[in-house]
Amino acid sequence: MAKVHVIGAGPAGSIAAVSAIRSGFEVTVSEEHQGAGMPRNCSGLFSKDGLESLSKFLDYRKHVLNPIMGARISFDNELFSVKRKGPVAFVCDRSGIDRALARLAESEGAKMNFGERITSSFQSGNIIGADGPLSLTARHFGFPQIKKHAGTLQAQIPYVAEDPHMIEMHISNSRFPGFFAWVIPQNETCAEFGVGVELPHRPILAWNHLMKLKGIEKTQKPRGFVIPLSPRKCTAKRHGAKNVLLAGDAAGQVKSTTGGGVIFGGMCAAIAGRHAENPGRYEFEWRLRHGADLALHRMIHSFISSRSDAQLSAFCRRIKKLNLDSYLSHHGHMDRPTKMMGPHFVAHMLRNIWGVV
Ligand SMILES: Cc1cc2nc3c(=O)[nH]c(=O)nc-3n(C[C@H](O)[C@H](O)[C@H](O)COP(=O)(O)OP(=O)(O)OC[C@H]3O[C@@H](n4cnc5c(N)ncnc54)[C@H](O)[C@@H]3O)c2cc1C
Repeated sequence: MAKVHVIGAGPAGSIAAVSAIRSGFEVTVSEEHQGAGMPRNCSGLFSKDGLESLSKFLDYRKHVLNPIMGARISFDNELFSVKRKGPVAFVCDRSGIDRALARLAESEGAKMNFGERITSSFQSGNIIGADGPLSLTARHFGFPQIKKHAGTLQAQIPYVAEDPHMIEMHISNSRFPGFFAWVIPQNETCAEFGVGVELPHRPILAWNHLMKLKGIEKTQKPRGFVIPLSPRKCTAKRHGAKNVLLAGDAAGQVKSTTGGGVIFGGMCAAIAGRHAENPGRYEFEWRLRHGADLALHRMIHSFISSRSDAQLSAFCRRIKKLNLDSYLSHHGHMDRPTKMMGPHFVAHMLRNIWGVV
């Protein structure tokens, strides 16, 4: 039986491991921490559709903390709200999800080596690097670098939200340059506060802005991390006799608009597990299935991150005039912008621009 060595037991690593086992490989997973799900660098917000797309690996209903109906997005001073009648997303226990996925990998036959940090001792001819945004696997095998990263800070803070089923996003390139700030209610009394800025801007300045904006004086020290904002130019190759594939944050399979990487990273990792012996097939298939959506997220992100605050406010006023808040409330899709661009979108724009339809 051909062997696969997966580096990292985050969601991408465990999903790649399960997928590889189901495709007939013998799998070993190396994880530097003593268990899965630590430390927790995530707000735990996932679209309902996205979670359902991972249903072969995860029963997400066991990990739900808070259903989310929509978002209030402020573009500098202008507010834009999108709201559904039912849940469009869920805040989940992210550590619980990581542990459940690692348990599944182990129960299906993966050898899980916790407390094992891989620097160069890769253990088989087929390697899947799912070792996060600072991937050592990518560096070791000379993959092209990820060009843009967001630096983030986040902390859980006692907070009673006006509506605990709505998230808040604050977009302002003077205060949160190149990314945004967020407040994600975890329950009725507590929320995850976070900021991201495109590096090399300083996240701590953005954090101070958010605390001031929300009138919060004392908090625990926020945790810092990084989010890749674009995929690597190449995510799989033959290196001598080895097949090396990257998946998840290691590959940069992340929505640049929000930094969400669990859903796309998980879906791509499932493809990596199937094609662990065939780097070309993996590269082709994940880009074919998910490349257009990730590219649209990048386009939206570069548009927003290159506007002044005054331009962002004007943009928000324009999209409200076009009733796009109402359109997105009905047809919005958190992960797949391509799904929002169909005939409904054309009809909506025609109706609102010219009153034609
Ligand atoms: C502040 C913040 C908030 C976020 N919020 C969300 C959100 O709400 N929704 C969402 O979808 N995404 C969110 N993300 C992004 C999400 O956390 C990542 O996309 C996701 O964790 C990527 O999963 P992964 O398995 O690719 O990598 P990781 O989860 O980073 O897992 C990589 C694993 O590899 C291990 N590892 C690393 N190097 C080695 C090595 N050399 N040897 C052995 N093991 C190694 C690590 O210990 C880790 O367990 C957020 C990110 C941040 C920073």
